[in-house]
Amino acid sequence: MNSMMNYFGSINNKFISLVNLKNKKVPRASSETQFKKIAYDKILERQEYLNKYPHIYHNEVISCRVCSSQDIKDWGLLSRDDDKRVHSCNSCGQILWRSRVSI
Ligand SMILES: [Zn+2]
Repeated sequence: MNSMMNYFGSINNKFISLVNLKNKKVPRASSETQFKKIAYDKILERQEYLNKYPHIYHNEVISCRVCSSQDIKDWGLLSRDDDKRVHSCNSCGQILWRSRVSI
């Protein structure tokens, strides 16, 4: 349980670091939710990601561009069931791409 908490803690920190200082203007009251939405928009979509890093795609499997792991997990942006998904490396924690759940 603890390692899971740490995992998400470090993901959150990486997430926050995606939002560059220019966005300091974002009002305090807009909170973490707003913050996450801004960060989410900065993450490449799956196709953009593949266009940018074509070498990480082999045999229909995408691997982490940092550590080459194929252990990639996705999680909901604001809640577990959020249809905005963020895909990150389960080995090094790098945030990789975003997608939407199509229902
Ligand atoms: Zn990795």
